[in-house]
Amino acid sequence: MKKKILVLGGGPCGLSAAWEISKYGYDVAVVEKESKVGGLCITNEYKGFRFDLGGHRFISKNKELVGNVCKMMGKELLTANRKSVILLQGKTFEYPLSAKDIFLKMDLWTNLKAFTSYLISTVSRIIFRKKDISFEDWIVNRFGRALYNLFFGPYTEKLWGISPKFISSDWASQRISLLNLKEVLFRLFKLRKGTPRTYAKGYFYPKKGIGQMFDVMSEDISKMGGNIILNASVSSIQVNNNTIESICYNQHGITKRIDCDAIVSTIPLTDLVKAFPGYLTRDIINHTSALKFRSVRFLNILVDLPDISDNTWMYVSEGKYIMTRIQEPKRRSPFSAPEGKTSIMLEIPCNENDEIWNCSEESLLKRSLADLKGLGIDIQDFVIDYFTTSVVHGYPVYSLDYAMHRQKLFDFLGQYDNLITCGRQGTFRYIFMDTAMEMGITAAQNLILDNLDKKADVQFMRSEEELIETTSVTA
Ligand SMILES: Cc1cc2nc3c(=O)[nH]c(=O)nc-3n(C[C@H](O)[C@H](O)[C@H](O)COP(=O)(O)OP(=O)(O)OC[C@H]3O[C@@H](n4cnc5c(N)ncnc54)[C@H](O)[C@@H]3O)c2cc1C
Repeated sequence: MKKKILVLGGGPCGLSAAWEISKYGYDVAVVEKESKVGGLCITNEYKGFRFDLGGHRFISKNKELVGNVCKMMGKELLTANRKSVILLQGKTFEYPLSAKDIFLKMDLWTNLKAFTSYLISTVSRIIFRKKDISFEDWIVNRFGRALYNLFFGPYTEKLWGISPKFISSDWASQRISLLNLKEVLFRLFKLRKGTPRTYAKGYFYPKKGIGQMFDVMSEDISKMGGNIILNASVSSIQVNNNTIESICYNQHGITKRIDCDAIVSTIPLTDLVKAFPGYLTRDIINHTSALKFRSVRFLNILVDLPDISDNTWMYVSEGKYIMTRIQEPKRRSPFSAPEGKTSIMLEIPCNENDEIWNCSEESLLKRSLADLKGLGIDIQDFVIDYFTTSVVHGYPVYSLDYAMHRQKLFDFLGQYDNLITCGRQGTFRYIFMDTAMEMGITAAQNLILDNLDKKADVQFMRSEEELIETTSVTA
């Protein structure tokens, strides 16, 4: 008899799981809350302009995955090179940060402060055996307080909405591009030989936005017999001892139930746990409440200019500006804007229901145009139109004790033999779409091969402390 597998959530992880399951001929249904698939990787189209939810790009170290994506997309997949910068104090710095750039663009006093504070932190690290507990420790221990205060601290605080003192150092190890100041200085003064770590500059991007990848994948799943149920929000899960027997979802105000043999869940870990209401202890409820997600609003502006800049991303460190990143979608694909026009998108981090979240589109535009002008990008007279989009579960907040709370939830869910939770939301991990896809594929294979004792291998895939971008397959 064919096994019936349910996939909760139709983002990159859930769709990849369903894609794999369909290839094996199993009966699969994807239950997705929104009216279209793609999750954080959707692309919205408006008046001939296309905007992702934060400009995405596809990179991966997994040759097989890259090969399959290229095959699936054919000529619709473009390649581009990234060129990103950091805008700070009226100057433009290379991204990833380069020591040479800092050295040449900062005044003598700032350079002296940076060097002295690096020496102080190195000595005190040795004497007091300082450990990397928080993000702040991680950076100060490697770069000194002056560079932390200039580049890393304000950006990180704006992104997460909390002081980097309260963010786990886990976030830094996979995301910060420089090694440490010693390494950088040695290379600057040619005291160290060998190849420095290089970055994958090339990346893949579909002609019609990142969402096109998942539209094509979902068409493939439907062709192979899979069922994609949209506008369906998972509300509860029914169990018999240690086995899940069915789930309920709400669709257009009606509650529906589907039976299943196994589940791959990619919905937020906290929401999944809350779907077992009769089985939750006070302790589990407390661990659930301790895990928070940072939300993001995106301001998408249609601009009557042919081009704005040649950068893929512009990072904005200073706290006085509302946005963390500025992007021009045309740099990823020329099909993102009609000919002769361009567009710009701002990523504005916030918490659900805070002042920024609730602020009107008009006020957000006014504030943002003033900030852009302050940064040297004056587009006020060229705005054709604008709209905002938003995501509630943008970033899992790596508080100092997030790993302990998360593990308690994994342990709770671990008692259900036929359930695996994976993906960015499902594992509460800051992962890229390629890892989400790999997780979905591996979870599907484990279900099919009855390897469910390997759940942890899937959930912690690619958690090695190595920079994601250094070992990517280049486009
Ligand atoms: C601003 C930003 C920029 C990014 N840039 C890049 C990039 O350049 N490159 C890259 O590789 N990655 C990037 N990422 C990360 C990438 O978007 C994620 O890794 C990827 O989307 C994770 O896929 P997922 O399927 O695990 O989760 P998601 O994409 O979040 O999908 C989860 C799905 O579950 C659905 N869902 C939630 N609750 C329910 C429910 N109760 N019932 C049913 N369905 C539900 C959601 O609607 C969603 O469709 C970026 C992320 C952000 C926020």
